[in-house]
Amino acid sequence: MNITVWNEYRHELSEEKVGKVYPKGIHGCIADFLTAAGHNVTTATLDMPEHGLTQEVLDNTDVLFWWGHMAHGEVKDEIVDRVYKRVMEGMGMVVLHSGHASKIFQKLMGTNSGFLRWRENDEKEIMWNVNPSHPIMKGIGANIVIPQEETYGEWFHIPQPDELVLISWFEGGEVFRSGCCFRRGMGKIFYFKPGHETYPIYHMPEVQKILTNAAEWAKPEGLVPIKAGHFPEPFVEIKR
Ligand code: ZN
Repeated sequence: MNITVWNEYRHELSEEKVGKVYPKGIHGCIADFLTAAGHNVTTATLDMPEHGLTQEVLDNTDVLFWWGHMAHGEVKDEIVDRVYKRVMEGMGMVVLHSGHASKIFQKLMGTNSGFLRWRENDEKEIMWNVNPSHPIMKGIGANIVIPQEETYGEWFHIPQPDELVLISWFEGGEVFRSGCCFRRGMGKIFYFKPGHETYPIYHMPEVQKILTNAAEWAKPEGLVPIKAGHFPEPFVEIKR
């Protein structure tokens, strides 16, 4: 499978603490474990020409991972439209953490998914597996404990997910729908909450397992080109 991992790649360069957690960038960490899982992985970042997401790159991408936070507004609308069109054609997407407020996720959801509660105070997060037979939960137990994470809380302004696989509890009392599956056009989208840049979340083996499973789930399968529009000749298969 061809996977492209897109990262804004700003926190790692501007904050020493984040650079230490992710010396190769968040995209480098994610690319490493997906490569180890046997996939053909490339990375793209905001400051590359066309944000690294040329038509050619997207045409050759089965699943696109997306991490962004401080520069959602710098992502060009024409690139957002290009990614959206590829999802409609069947490309899978895995949207991570603060990517909930990205232009592409909001366009795919049709809602202001930037609405949620949040707090950064090193609270514990327990992610509960609420869909054990789902392919994304393969090999995952009853829960995953993340010792310290940014707290997110409901209400999370998203449409009802087509499938919910994880719900998180936080030490402060909040709960959050932290693993949500959506279908848009012919594409599949997985939103995964963990991954605040100052904590080593994407180094955790259970998190890597979920994201590797998510790529498998989201990949396009058996797509054929769809013909639509005006058909002047009636379609008759049965000869009388
Ligand atoms: Zn965050």
